[in-house]
Amino acid sequence: MRSLKILPAILVLSAMPVTTTAQQPTILSEVVDKIVRQEQAEVQLLRQYSPLVETYIQNIRADQRLGAVPDGDKYFLGRAELAKGVELEPLEHDTGGVKHKVFGGWASFFSTEFVPRGFLQMIYLDMNGFDRQHYKIEYVRREFLGEVRCLVFDVDPLPKAGKGRFVGRIWVEDQDFHIVRFNGAYGGSSLTSNYFNFDSWRVSAGKNQWLPAFIYSEQGTVRDPKTKSLRFRAFRAQTRLWGYDLGSVREEQELSKVLVEGPTPVNDQSETANDYSPFQAERSWGRQAEDNVTERLERQGLMAPRGEVDKVLETVINNLEVTNNLDIQPEVRCRVLMTSTLESFTLGHTIVLSRGLVDVLPDEASLAAILAHELGHVVLGHRMDTQFGFFNRLRFDEKETFRHFDFARTPEEEQAAKQKGNELLNNSPYKEQSGTAQFFLQALKNRSKEIPNLISPHLGDRVSTSWTIVAAVFSAPPSEAEAKPAGNVIAAPPLGGRVKIDPWNDQLRMLKSKPVGTVAEAEKMPFEVTPFVIYLTRQGEHSATEAASAVSAKADSDTKP
Ligand SMILES: [Zn+2]
Repeated sequence: MRSLKILPAILVLSAMPVTTTAQQPTILSEVVDKIVRQEQAEVQLLRQYSPLVETYIQNIRADQRLGAVPDGDKYFLGRAELAKGVELEPLEHDTGGVKHKVFGGWASFFSTEFVPRGFLQMIYLDMNGFDRQHYKIEYVRREFLGEVRCLVFDVDPLPKAGKGRFVGRIWVEDQDFHIVRFNGAYGGSSLTSNYFNFDSWRVSAGKNQWLPAFIYSEQGTVRDPKTKSLRFRAFRAQTRLWGYDLGSVREEQELSKVLVEGPTPVNDQSETANDYSPFQAERSWGRQAEDNVTERLERQGLMAPRGEVDKVLETVINNLEVTNNLDIQPEVRCRVLMTSTLESFTLGHTIVLSRGLVDVLPDEASLAAILAHELGHVVLGHRMDTQFGFFNRLRFDEKETFRHFDFARTPEEEQAAKQKGNELLNNSPYKEQSGTAQFFLQALKNRSKEIPNLISPHLGDRVSTSWTIVAAVFSAPPSEAEAKPAGNVIAAPPLGGRVKIDPWNDQLRMLKSKPVGTVAEAEKMPFEVTPFVIYLTRQGEHSATEAASAVSAKADSDTKP
């Protein structure tokens, strides 16, 4: 165990004032060598993966009252092919004219405003040359990121290292010396790089692996120093990676599990009646089509596997059904699309909400309003295309997904579902709080011009903002001016604040964060891009010991974020 030998040295290091670390070159250099070797191994390790990559960019404009507000946006979804370096295959039906292969180096990165590969690049600190020949690496202090104890270093390229090198700060977990976070910029000497900053996070996936998962980046407005003409508009961007454990590896594991289980009868309905009436056959065929589509999306990493968040949604559906005396067969299920776009749709009796939508709904009543609308489609018997009951209809190239799957409704169906949804909501316990749902829809409507790409669905329908929830709290529908939540009410939270993604297996969990207290007007930021601050944990074999050491070491860390 190499790491055990080095740990006492770390403890000595961190107990000393920063200024004296230079007097321990042997110890420091050993640690730095370990970090460098681990980072080089990381670059090699990542070559086996093809995760999904999503980048959402908001242009920013200054607003006197609200501070920085969104002013146009861009969205990219693709699959990385890390075996080929920083290569990306777009999954979008329309890439908006973005030529994703024009990126040919640092210079063109800075002169091309938004190139998806440029954001993917930020999973690497420096693909060739992160070592002591190219960098000065200085120990700063010890710090916790979540429950993971880290050593913090400042990293600066040496003068001879050349352009495009990383400058900033790194956090290194102190067991195996993986870099788990790096925050800074590429370039060092170039002018523009000072404005393009990023904060790149890796999360534990067990088996001594830390995988790139979240990158926040931003840039201020850049003007030409001589002509004062605008060179770059200010923006903020979130990049997410997930779906590392997709594809052939998992399929092989699943198959071997089934084979090991042996001759268990596959038929799990042997106790019930065996024959299907035509009516049941029709239902069963519909269910098959739903299952085929959700399975296909899950295998591609576009839909989360069954989990905790589905259950939360199904609880709300249950409450709506019970209070409306509905007994829907087969039972209504909920699933979550992995993407940040705001959308929802139904596949027969399966209701799908995007993660992005679940993330920005301010409360359970707002969630109930969205789900009531979708349940309206179910109750009204709006059908999905049952051709997906045929398995050959599922065989197409992944890039064609959004062309093959289109679950948007006709305007007539939408109108009918709106009415039905209102009816269901008005009979439910959510009626009393449906004011917040109305505020949410109004906030979305007010913002929709500035975030056209966020509200453009991949597969289903955009969230209808022209919908007035007629409920007891509104004897008359609110006018646009009135529909403004007072005081501390948040009409819609910033993006990405509610659901936690496991980038390895795509499992989603509800975040457990504390109430934020009083929120200033400029802090409300509905539908805005905000930085990531990830509560890091260790997965797998280290977790038990780490939890213990985290508790004992907490006392001497006053720099926990
Ligand atoms: Zn609808």
